[in-house]
Amino acid sequence: MSRPYPPRATTLRPTGEAGPARIPFPEGRASEAGVGTRRRVLVSRPMVPTSMRASVLRAAGDVATEERPVPVPGPREVLVRVTAVGTCGSDTHYYEHGRLGPFVVEEPLVLGHEAGGVVAACGAEASRHTPGQRVALEPGVPCFTCALCRQGRYNLCPEMRFFATPPVDGAFCEYVALHEEFVHPVPDTLSDEAAGLVEPLSVGVWANRRAGVAPGARVLVTGAGPVGLIAAQTARAFGATDVTVTDVSQRRLELAAELGASATVDAGRTPLPESGVCPDVLLECSGVPAAASEAIGTVDRAGRVVLVGMGGAELSLPLSHVQNFEIEVTGTFRYANTWPAAIALAASGRVELDRLVTHRYGLEGVADALTVSARDETAVKAVVHPQE
Ligand SMILES: [Zn+2]
Ligand SMILES: [Zn+2]
Repeated sequence: MSRPYPPRATTLRPTGEAGPARIPFPEGRASEAGVGTRRRVLVSRPMVPTSMRASVLRAAGDVATEERPVPVPGPREVLVRVTAVGTCGSDTHYYEHGRLGPFVVEEPLVLGHEAGGVVAACGAEASRHTPGQRVALEPGVPCFTCALCRQGRYNLCPEMRFFATPPVDGAFCEYVALHEEFVHPVPDTLSDEAAGLVEPLSVGVWANRRAGVAPGARVLVTGAGPVGLIAAQTARAFGATDVTVTDVSQRRLELAAELGASATVDAGRTPLPESGVCPDVLLECSGVPAAASEAIGTVDRAGRVVLVGMGGAELSLPLSHVQNFEIEVTGTFRYANTWPAAIALAASGRVELDRLVTHRYGLEGVADALTVSARDETAVKAVVHPQE
């Protein structure tokens, strides 16, 4: 464990004003309105500075803390003071390789997309929040108007602007501005870290929805990394009665069992086909093609396979098994309309997020946070506290 930060629920309120602080002008200075009427101070941002620290990826393997202007929220945006940001495999991949699939880092980029924080100020037309509200950030804003957006499948919007995906900056910084519809209030029972980890929980909720997990389901989760551990807990919360988790790490399997898996299989010792597992849903979270192929071969008739983990470029399917058993295989890409359910699952304790956090860093420690899992086998989830 590195330096322990107790989870904090920081509040930040504007002085002398009950409603949201309005920011029609940049620079956070008091501005005036009401031509010909009594001079009235519309906005003051006494608590919001004009510059902030941001951890910037400048090239593969090179992150540094830089001073940047605090973003000025657009009319429908909310300015959020970021309190905790989980690190994700995609952040690590950008850090190590400077690219992820088709996305290439060509300009300096702020990583981090699993963020919780506190509303600091609201744009001129943003009416859903009040400064001081603790929130979880849904880190992608779609176009709202394309056919997929109108169908509610906005995760597939071709115009999606997603945190920490070039050229959109992420949340390893002190403040971010985000459209108010994607800033979700959380109860005070949720820690700052858990508010950030609502993002990977949303991945788990979306995977379980795509798989149609229902009461009585028998679910196999391959891979006990953060997403697998979350997907397994979510499957239980969705009513699955058998949740088997496989991994090659005994330590992670023990954690899976503590978090509610009904069975675990050490895939390094027992080949999955010999384990007797016969699920009707497979949530593939390992990203290891060989493990995925083998697991698909265990799925029962009319079963469903959801590919969540990202790993190899290709996967060989046990084709006669898939055909003869009419198994459905589908991918997942992020999530849509999951935040309210994910927040409720975390707040009710049905999914434990705080248990996943093993390492904590301040903003200067982003590089260490992104690489700790390669150095320390006890690492599950590293969290960055940008205010530290
Ligand atoms: Zn992620
Ligand atoms: Zn769209």
